[in-house]
Amino acid sequence: MKQLVILSGKGGTGKTTVAAALAHLASQEGAIVLADADVDAANLELVLDPVKREQHEFMSGQVARIDAERCTACGICAGVCRFDAVVEGEIYRVDPLACEGCAACFYQCPEAAIQMEEQHAGRWFRSDSRFGPLFHAHLFAGQENSGKLVTLVKQQGRLLALDSGAGLLVVDGPPGIGCPVIAASAGADVALHVVEPTVSGVHDLGRIMGTTDHFGVPSLVVINKADLNTAISGEIAAFCVERGVQVVGRIPYDTVVTEAMVQGRPVTDYADGAVTQALREVWARISERLFPAREERR
Ligand code: SF4
Ligand code: SF4
Repeated sequence: MKQLVILSGKGGTGKTTVAAALAHLASQEGAIVLADADVDAANLELVLDPVKREQHEFMSGQVARIDAERCTACGICAGVCRFDAVVEGEIYRVDPLACEGCAACFYQCPEAAIQMEEQHAGRWFRSDSRFGPLFHAHLFAGQENSGKLVTLVKQQGRLLALDSGAGLLVVDGPPGIGCPVIAASAGADVALHVVEPTVSGVHDLGRIMGTTDHFGVPSLVVINKADLNTAISGEIAAFCVERGVQVVGRIPYDTVVTEAMVQGRPVTDYADGAVTQALREVWARISERLFPAREERR
């Protein structure tokens, strides 16, 4: 089973458009499983219109909770809390968004009025899409540990792919270069970087490639809306040549991408124009890299 992760150095580069299109094209050649690892803003489901089959709670980290019945309002907990998470008053309480779960107050309370409780930080789902099972999640606002939830979503996808004999796990990664990106990329056979020809494009690409290189994940690059600035697209291509990284395609700008999104469909499943053609070529090159034997048989 192969694992393809789709990444971008920043949000809004068309990563999910590319991920949905590749899921559509890959599913025409064999069984696949999908994981939306962008748990802060999961939107693969908007394009794939899946049916939810399972819902699970995601518990993570701890927060303090004060038992008002036992609390004598001595103020010790507020004094030891370095995060200003204890709200003082006649009744003391903890602001769960400010609490870092350090438990200093728990150990210092003379009345044993404080409990440390696991936080309900989000939910994860198993759904069915037209192109294969989809694992996705929603991290509640203000919650941390998105790397842990990304790992969980990806592991579930990986397990199902292995159990069901699916040949490919497609992971729509989170944007940026932080911990969730590392969690999404771990163990991938190929990272496809989606970049747009903007002033910060080369810089963003360099940063994200630095992350995937560090973890030994081979890179491929696709330039989205490449015709909007051919000079910068050229700079990106030159940067890739310098780094020995293949540019697997240049997708032209076309409003058909937005139309397809509004219809809740991957663009390759919606219209057969230049964008779809470019994405077919992108998939063919990725497939060559992931499944050389399959390509030789063609
Ligand atoms: S330390 Fe305990 S008793 Fe004192 S204010 Fe805090 S919760 Fe209440
Ligand atoms: S657990 Fe730590 S951060 Fe949370 S309220 Fe207690 S002292 Fe403050």
